[in-house]
Amino acid sequence: MAKTPREFFYDLIQTPSPSGYEEKIQGVVRDYVKDFADDVRVDLHGNVIVARNPEAPFRVMFSGHCDQIGLIVNYVDAEGFVYVLPLGGWDPQTLVGVRVTIWSKNGPVEGVIGRKAIHLLTEEERKRVPKVTDLWVDIGAANKAEAEEHIRVGDCGTIPLDCRELLNNRLAAPATDDKAGLWVVMEALRRIDAAKLNVAVFAVSSVQEEVGLRGAKTSAFGIDPNVGIAVDVTHATDTPTVDKKISGEILLGKGPAIGKGPNMSMKLVDALIDVADANKIPYQLAAENRITGTDAANIQVTRSGVSTGLVSIPNRYMHTPVEIVSWDDMNASADLLARYCESISPDVDYTPGV
Ligand SMILES: [Zn+2]
Repeated sequence: MAKTPREFFYDLIQTPSPSGYEEKIQGVVRDYVKDFADDVRVDLHGNVIVARNPEAPFRVMFSGHCDQIGLIVNYVDAEGFVYVLPLGGWDPQTLVGVRVTIWSKNGPVEGVIGRKAIHLLTEEERKRVPKVTDLWVDIGAANKAEAEEHIRVGDCGTIPLDCRELLNNRLAAPATDDKAGLWVVMEALRRIDAAKLNVAVFAVSSVQEEVGLRGAKTSAFGIDPNVGIAVDVTHATDTPTVDKKISGEILLGKGPAIGKGPNMSMKLVDALIDVADANKIPYQLAAENRITGTDAANIQVTRSGVSTGLVSIPNRYMHTPVEIVSWDDMNASADLLARYCESISPDVDYTPGV
């Protein structure tokens, strides 16, 4: 039996996908979308491009990155302790005391990130924030030789890939950045009513976002879209200690944040807002005063330029093992993008000032 959309999201969370090690999750995506896609392909970089109505001349691209921040084995010492480097931007404080799985050629190897017990830390050590390279993974090996029977330099690692359901339809899981966004782009594609569709839509499960927004660059070049919308997470600013005067007001559960600023096409932003209003889809506005650290940055400057948008899912505790997103926000985001695609007439032109 085909998976439900919710089961698909759990599959995404439970499949390891550190940047550069995305083959497994791309297999999950390809398997799920085949029931509703008109075309599915993989490019040489590893992006999975899922299309509906691909022959239409006006092309809309969605991008949700499938990679997650992870770890890479760098060195094993004589005692068999494994030193790792970050793949992407961790807050190392959140890794202490966490379980790790190293994905070796022969399967998963379990370990923990240990630290000297509080009783043994000196006054100075207690004050210092550790770097990833100060930490080690303990896989239980007796020595280097035994460790290297199980893992090798260059293997990737992840923290536990489980999802907790919280109150108010909220989910806590690692790497909802950007598996929530990846889910949204595929779910939007699935929800589009074919009878209302005048344009081609390509939903991309993009690779290597966390190490430089790289999959968006190659996939956008290949698709050559008129419109490109990145779907990623953004910081929910509704937790203690966040200053809204600096970070703006983005609330968990109040709908997707539509980004506005120089990284976006103003006409596209207006179109998304109109669609949300017309369909009573909740949304929030996010001021983006810089070029964003999302796939939208590279999509916009592809070839001779792409009308670009950014739809963001509010996220608490980004890049920690306990990120929180709202299932309601994910649903609203998928609706927004599906209804947007259905609203586009074939003669639309987002060229500024024209
Ligand atoms: Zn992201």
